[in-house]
Order: sequence, then structure tokens, then C-alpha cells
Amino acid sequence: MHAVLDVPLSAPDVPTRLRAYLDDHAPTTPCLLIDLDVVRANYRAIRAALPEAAVFYAVKANPAPEVVRALVVEGSSFDVASTGEIDLCLAQGATPESLSYGNPIKKAADIAYAYGLGVRRFTFDSEGDLENLAVLAPGSRVSCRFIVDAPQSGTPFGRKFGCDPDMAIRLLARAADLGLSADGACFHVGSQHTDPAAWVSGIAEAARIARALGECGVPTRSLNLGGGFPTGYATPAPPLEVHAAAIRAAVAEHFDTAPELLIEPGRAVVATAGVIRSEVVLVSRKCDTDTHRWVYLDIGRYSGLAETENEYIAYRLLTAHPATPDGPVIIAGPTCDGDDVIYQHTSYSLPLALRAGDHVDILDAGAYTASYSSVSFNGFPPLPTLFVG
Ligand SMILES: *Cc1c(COP(=O)(O)O)cnc(C)c1O
Repeated sequence: MHAVLDVPLSAPDVPTRLRAYLDDHAPTTPCLLIDLDVVRANYRAIRAALPEAAVFYAVKANPAPEVVRALVVEGSSFDVASTGEIDLCLAQGATPESLSYGNPIKKAADIAYAYGLGVRRFTFDSEGDLENLAVLAPGSRVSCRFIVDAPQSGTPFGRKFGCDPDMAIRLLARAADLGLSADGACFHVGSQHTDPAAWVSGIAEAARIARALGECGVPTRSLNLGGGFPTGYATPAPPLEVHAAAIRAAVAEHFDTAPELLIEPGRAVVATAGVIRSEVVLVSRKCDTDTHRWVYLDIGRYSGLAETENEYIAYRLLTAHPATPDGPVIIAGPTCDGDDVIYQHTSYSLPLALRAGDHVDILDAGAYTASYSSVSFNGFPPLPTLFVG
């Protein structure tokens, strides 16, 4: 079930500025270095590719205050999932109007807290959450997340979020009855989605929901397309423009009146802005005839590389041994946990010259890394983030 990729040994360079910083400052490893100029450039590229959509940055992808602050200055809005993310965004200068509480799984007390701070946009996918919203966030704009029937993404959500589209119609009608503003439907195709057709089937379904509601006297106005825009890791991903064109064509085809579009990119804003510098702890073989070397890094599943679970995300790796012979490796983290193996099914090659103490740079690692690292599993501290730009 695992795609076998021949991950190129000589991956393209770490962005020059990041590498220069790492070489000059020689920070303690592992660490994540973020180039805030790249965050800004990615945000602007998304705006340029889909200017008709309002951008709500999904904070969980990289909640560093510096990243949020840079995006506030760019004029971004924010998709938040908890009271902690609300506090974080407000502390960095975001206005409550620019926040959308997009997590359909929330405590009543957290709805009340958000409403008290001025948040007026919420997503729900169940009757229970809708009833809480009606009482604790009266008059707010609400959208209903439905389960999109699309091919699997790189890091699928399964059936945890969303409801059946017919249920979404019923719940949005109920939302209007309860005095809420029934904004429209929303979906998320799953993170790291490389197939633009995924958005197309979601848009067709959302249009059917909007039409059904219109026919029963509940006009809706928006369509939230979620996130999922992919980053090229070991395998390249289609550029944003391809997704934008598919989205634009599908909206024109399925909607009679163009809805207000919202998107919630996370990964696409921050992934390429970051590089993790790690260090080789040990290179070993399990027997004298072992064809694979085991390369143990000072970072693993529990200190930032959570998305290597199931080997969903295959990062490009860069060492300081360019153009030397390489051989197959299994790559693992430093903890005493049997699951802390990063890649054993995905085929990776690293230089035969690689030794303990050498650096391994993990590219495009700005999304879903630092915030996933554990507090101190096995005594390894959380992944620190440094910034340039
Ligand atoms: C995680 C998440 C996103 C961001 O997804 P990406 O794949 O990083 O773009 C957007 N919206 C919601 C509701 C999410 O949970």
C-alpha cells in the first residue's frame, strides 16, 4: 500500500538564504528555520491564483506567532480550531471578524468564549453543535461541513468530519430556523491533495445543497472550499494555478449565481518556507550482509516529523555530500519507541559517506512539524523554530 518512490539524492537546494543562515549560525539541532518572506510570497501567490476567494490561513499548519503576525500584515483571515488559536491570532493583531471557528468538534464553553471575543463565523457538522451555536453564538454566520466523495488525499481525514450532504441541507435549513445566518456548505478534500478533481466533486455537491436550500426558501451565500492545496515533496505536485482553474470552472458550471468563495490553505502557505536541520546520530547495519543502512537522526516522529506516520509525507532530504555514491537506507528517529521509524517502505538513498555528526536538511518542512512535536517524549525537547525575513 506504500508507494515506492526513488527519492532523489541530490534534491534541489535548500533556499539559499536558509542554508546561509544555518551554516553561519550553526544552531543546535534539530531546529526548524522559517523564512517569513517565503510565507508572504506563498500567501500572495495563493491570492493571485484565486483572487475571487477570501483566504483564511489554517493556523494549525504553523501557529508560530511570527507567521501569524506576518499574515495579519498581509491582510489574511484565519481558520481557527480552538480557544488557544483564537487567543493567538488576536494577540498578533487579527480582528475577531477575520476569524472563522472551523472546527466542528467544540465544547459549548469554547463557543461562548469565541462569541464573547467577537467571533461570528462558525462551522458545524452535527445537530448537537448547531444547537449549541444557536444558543451561544446567536445570529452568527454558520456553514455546514459535508463529507466529500472524492479520491483519497495524501493525508486523509477519513469520516471524522462532515456529514452526509442531505443532512447538511436539513441542518442548514434548521440553522435558519434557529435564527443563525445559514452561510452555505463547506468541505475539505483532505490535506496534501494532488488531484484537482477532488474540489470539482465537492463543488458540484455544494451547488446541489445550495439549490435545494434555495428551493425551500433558505438562500445561502458562500462556499468554503477548505484547504488541501498540495506541496511538492519527493513527488512534485500540480501548481496552484491548476487547482484554481479547476475550481473556477466547476463553480461556473454548477452554480447559477457565483457564491462568495473562501479557502483555508495551511500547508500551501508555510510548507516551502521551512527547512529542518537535523544531525545524524548513528549509521548502522543489522547484520554483516544487510543491504540497508539504518540512519538514525536526532529528529523523529515525536519531535516534529509526525506527518511521516504511515509515510504519508516523503520529505526531500539534503546532505553535505553532493555527488557521492549513495545506497539504500532506512531512516529512524532517536527515541526508544518502535514506531519512531520515519521511512522503511519508501525507498530512500543517502550517501555512503554519511557519518554520525553530519547534517541532514529536511526540505519543505514549514507545515505540520514544530507544532506537532511532543513536549519532551524520552527527554527530547520540542522542536525550536528560528526565523529569517
Ligand atoms: C487543517 C485544516 C485546513 C488546512 O488544510 P491544508 O491541507 O493544510 O491546506 C483547512 N481547513 C480546516 C477545517 C482544517 O482542519
